[in-house]
Amino acid sequence: MKILVINCGSSSLKYQFIDIETETVLAKGLVERIGIDGRLKHTPAGKDAVVKEESIPDHNKAVSMVIEALTDPEHGVISDMKEIDAVGHRIVHGGEKFASSVVINDEVIAAIEECCDLAPLHNPANLIGIHACQELMPGTPMVAVFDTSFHQTMPEKAYTYGIPYEYYEKYKVRRYGFHGTSHRYVSGRVAAILGKPIEDLKIVVCHLGNGASVCAVKNGESVDTSMGLTPLEGLIMGTRSGDLDPAILQFIMNKENLDIDGMLNVLNKKSGILGVSNGISSDFREIENAYAAGDPAAKRANDAFVYRVVKYIGAYAAAMNGIDAVAFTAGLGENNAKIRKEICDYLGYLGLKVDDEKNNVRGKEVVFSTEDSKVAALLVPTDEEMMIARDTASLVK
Ligand code: AMP
Repeated sequence: MKILVINCGSSSLKYQFIDIETETVLAKGLVERIGIDGRLKHTPAGKDAVVKEESIPDHNKAVSMVIEALTDPEHGVISDMKEIDAVGHRIVHGGEKFASSVVINDEVIAAIEECCDLAPLHNPANLIGIHACQELMPGTPMVAVFDTSFHQTMPEKAYTYGIPYEYYEKYKVRRYGFHGTSHRYVSGRVAAILGKPIEDLKIVVCHLGNGASVCAVKNGESVDTSMGLTPLEGLIMGTRSGDLDPAILQFIMNKENLDIDGMLNVLNKKSGILGVSNGISSDFREIENAYAAGDPAAKRANDAFVYRVVKYIGAYAAAMNGIDAVAFTAGLGENNAKIRKEICDYLGYLGLKVDDEKNNVRGKEVVFSTEDSKVAALLVPTDEEMMIARDTASLVK
């Protein structure tokens, strides 16, 4: 069975075409600048990428270009679009309606539409992707896989905010959490790598990318996570502030003469590593270089980022009454040994010890704690697309 995995944004569309029997990626690509001008980069497995620049006015055109690329006699990997057995769509927000992936039908689409309120930037774009695929591939089964659904197992005490309960009753204001597909994949791999049933493990997954979140996984279920109603809460991220005193908003708005949209723009796009480093970069590679050159702003950003992650791990050790494993994933978690080491060095109180040689890797699965470490430390490259393809295959079979 061959699955097309689609991650649709407002002006971009990422895709992977996966053979689920062998779990191999046959091709992947990215359509960018939809509605602006248009560019498709298509990479068949084992071959060079091909780039096509032409007008892409809407997502229908983007999807039709993806189908063309997949069936192209030269760069394609199938001869007919009928070989696309199913499509898996990444959907950002499933609210409380979806605790697992589902086959898409009219009812599901209506429910995703109802969640647009909770993710006004993402869900409408995800829906456009679904509609475009339905139009161009009528009759092909489709599945929705939600960033939020893994966290629906969180207990009430973890998802409840300290605000009047009527806001939950009226508007469903609560913690939802994101990166669920990644946290699910990585925690599953941790159990497999350690050779233990996931039902017996307490795992903290640190998804450290430009967007970053930590998740407490107990007995295979998410019991807490750092992102909230939106992805703005929690860790200090590339450009997002993460946690802060809510009264800061009014204070800065008054001083800087900002309205609430302007303030949220600052918190989403100008804060985090970028803001704390006084504008060096949102990319940790540049922070590292500046830090190595002795820049105190880079050190400040680095240290504040690490400290926030460490505080969350401590909180989740308390929430789960201990930790068996800490796993690192996403751009920074997979590629930055120094950050992994700095975080783990705070965790000596848990009995975690790093083997520096084993930690000196990037982008591959490894247990990098010492043999006698009481808590296992792991690097696990995430694979959200494979998870989406697996869910899609199992639901449409
Ligand atoms: P992501 O959002 O998962 O792509 O992660 C972005 C972050 O990961 C940035 O801060 C990058 O500095 C870091 N990152 C991504 N790829 C690499 C790499 N190959 N080497 C070092 N850092 C990387």
